[in-house]
Amino acid sequence: MIERGLIIGGVEQAAASGETFDVLSPATEQVIGRVARGAKADVDLAVAAARNGFTQWHRLTPSAREAVLLRAADIMAEQGEQRYLDLLIDESGSVINKARYEIARTADLLRAAAGEVRRLYGETMPNDSPDRISMVFREPLGVVAAIVPYNAPLLLLTKMTAFPLAAGNSIVIKPSEETPLIAIEYAKLLVEAGLPADAVSVVTGFGAECGSPLVEHDDINAIALTGSTATGKAIGKIAMEKMRPTQLELGGKSALVVLNDFDAKSAAKIAIEGMFTHAGQICMANSRIVVEAGIFDEFIAELKAGCEQLVVGDVRDTKSAYGPLINRNALNKVLAHIEDAKSRGTALLTGGEVHQGLTLQPTVLLEPSREATAWRDESFGPLTSVVKAQDLDDAIALANDSVFALSAAVLTHNIQRGFKAAREIRSGAVHIGMHSFQSNAMAPIGGMGDSGIGRSGGKYSTEEFTELKWISVELGG
Ligand code: NAD
Repeated sequence: MIERGLIIGGVEQAAASGETFDVLSPATEQVIGRVARGAKADVDLAVAAARNGFTQWHRLTPSAREAVLLRAADIMAEQGEQRYLDLLIDESGSVINKARYEIARTADLLRAAAGEVRRLYGETMPNDSPDRISMVFREPLGVVAAIVPYNAPLLLLTKMTAFPLAAGNSIVIKPSEETPLIAIEYAKLLVEAGLPADAVSVVTGFGAECGSPLVEHDDINAIALTGSTATGKAIGKIAMEKMRPTQLELGGKSALVVLNDFDAKSAAKIAIEGMFTHAGQICMANSRIVVEAGIFDEFIAELKAGCEQLVVGDVRDTKSAYGPLINRNALNKVLAHIEDAKSRGTALLTGGEVHQGLTLQPTVLLEPSREATAWRDESFGPLTSVVKAQDLDDAIALANDSVFALSAAVLTHNIQRGFKAAREIRSGAVHIGMHSFQSNAMAPIGGMGDSGIGRSGGKYSTEEFTELKWISVELGG
């Protein structure tokens, strides 16, 4: 049993209330840890520390800030597996391959963020008055509240904190109540790397008790949320009321479009990876598959065969494609989406049953009603739908039949058809020749509509977490 406290100004401590909550392993549904149950009094301490941390951190030279982030990347690369592999497996239900991928990507993100420290450029501009100079500075916002989900708890936490830190901000982290242990270990690593201890705090606890007082706190300057659309809308309202810059990376219902010219077997393999990685608990998972009529029958035969060969369940088996969902509520939500589709007369191509514990079989619905929850809402589980499109225009219309617009993908070798789809699908990203679950530390990741507001990655993150200031000087007296 691991027992941990809040991290405030580098000091691990109990919650002011003395209360704790249990952390469960999705694989065994047993308690593996106990952490402090943070609330408003703890948030107040964390934000006060972060104000102080901001003063220290943003005044450091760019090369000093860069060195801290590079040291953090080195520690992550050298010790990441030893420090995070078991936590990612036990706390978040990641299979070993996904946990390794997450650790490797995290080191890469820290390096990418270090690179942005020296790229916080300003500008000058022409001025009609010959003795006047006009320039624009890029300045950090101050204290950023980072509110993190459970699905990629190390990678997303790093993405949400390393770039704001690169820009000179300090951070208060509110991890998911499902995965607090990883966040505590991450904050320790940053301080070991040389980050002033006040520049990063972790308040562990629940959304309403701990997340809400953080979002509403008068002394924070910006909010980064990666989470569900419902949480994003709730936080967005408060953020607007408080006039607070906010980046919202929310849910998805990403379409994978398969066009006639693509090889059906390869398309099925790509679709399976894009959908079932981490049991579909990926915001960009291709949870809707739109297939052009000419390849439909061959594709669904390959997809069914591929799904039935997937090894699932055992989180420590390197052959496992995925393991359990995060908790029983998450499993029940996916099962309810399957039942809803069935009650509307939808056939299952494959799956539909629990494999073991919280692990669900890879499940594919055939031609669900466009009103089915599995088509409209985010299931966030190993469930996807396949529908037939008559032609490219029909495929694009089906891909656009969603309130979400986070990521999409088109499988074709035809550059004209691929680009037409990429230009006409409304989405934060469209990938050609790949599935919709792609990441790149420098790319602008984010969505439109119910998928959120703002972009993260590379300079797009540092732009979100800096403010422009116009300064002008009269030299003529
Ligand atoms: P969630 O919205 O339930 O929780 C996210 C975080 O918000 C947690 O830390 C939670 O405690 C906190 N929270 C909840 N209510 C709050 C409130 N009222 N005030 C402040 N904080 C609050 O999301 P989840 O279930 O942990 O994560 C899954 C969701 O995240 C999915 O919808 C998924 O698509 C989305 N996601 C999006 C991206 C992206 O890049 N767009 C990436 C990963 C996950």
